[in-house]
Amino acid sequence: MKNRQLILIFVLYLLLFNNNFYFFQSSIYGLQTQPHLTDRKLCLIILDGLRFDAAVKMPFLNNMYNSDKAVIYKGLCEVPSTSRPGYERILTGTSTKINNIDNNNKHIPSLIPNLFRISKNNRLKTGFCGYFWVEELYPLDIDYSYFYIIRDGTTFEKSVEMIEKYQPDFMVIHPMSIDNFGHKYGGISKEYKEEVKRIDDKIKNLWYLIEKMNYTLMLVSDHGHKDEGGHGDDNPDCLQIPICIISNEINTFSPINNTNTISQTDIAPTICDILGIPKTIYMTGNSLVKHDNQIYLIRKIFSGGIDCNFQDFFNMTSILTYIIIASQTVIYFACMFVAIRLFIIN
Ligand SMILES: [Zn+2]
Repeated sequence: MKNRQLILIFVLYLLLFNNNFYFFQSSIYGLQTQPHLTDRKLCLIILDGLRFDAAVKMPFLNNMYNSDKAVIYKGLCEVPSTSRPGYERILTGTSTKINNIDNNNKHIPSLIPNLFRISKNNRLKTGFCGYFWVEELYPLDIDYSYFYIIRDGTTFEKSVEMIEKYQPDFMVIHPMSIDNFGHKYGGISKEYKEEVKRIDDKIKNLWYLIEKMNYTLMLVSDHGHKDEGGHGDDNPDCLQIPICIISNEINTFSPINNTNTISQTDIAPTICDILGIPKTIYMTGNSLVKHDNQIYLIRKIFSGGIDCNFQDFFNMTSILTYIIIASQTVIYFACMFVAIRLFIIN
């Protein structure tokens, strides 16, 4: 009888342990801002390997800028200035130090909530046309997907097909050709610049299609390119990236301000605000939509009114997590020990 009671207590404890831990985890890491869905759709084009100084010379983008329909920010990415870490920073809004996708050979799914999943959780449709590495990072979160493994010749054509057929609320288009030209001829070569112009023309055609469907268009890049081609380190030409927004309501975005550095991690919270989906506690950047900094406020409230950046917040909650896990583990093994001894004695 005594043994059965002990086993019952042990099972109850295990259940409690799980619930406790789940509650703790979800109350901190599940923190997010309130959703307030808009009727906007968003199309994000990740122009692989596009330098900032090449982006500002794109003819269509410039036309839009001059007619007050576009804003062009100079953004900064992080080291490593490579592709897979770049995709993860753009699509989760986290620094590489947090998401741990720190090189191109990590063929594993991301563990951080990403824009596809947050959209899906809020019943928005998601679409992707691009390189298979993005699909590898978020395998379960994309509704409509077309990915290439070697060449991307038809990325824009496939995207147009997908948009006309499904009109995904959050659509990501990811052409690779600019990066290929950068590697082959260098970041200031005639060939590289011509490819940027060719892609600019495709973007123009795409915009005239999706403008009528209530889309906002964002153009960003994962990293830049060196003059002689190549990227990965802290060379300014690799770190400086364009972050451009094309919209019929351009006044809703923060004006260009030369004192604030815009970061690659600002892209995700901006997209959250455009679509009205919640921002997660993992997002370290600030939204470029005016008057919106809610996730920063949530962190502030949670840390007792102290201004703390995400890294401090993360360190603080990590210590708490470790203390809880350690104490629970000690109790767990103590229970096991007592249970085993009782079985042996009987
Ligand atoms: Zn590259």
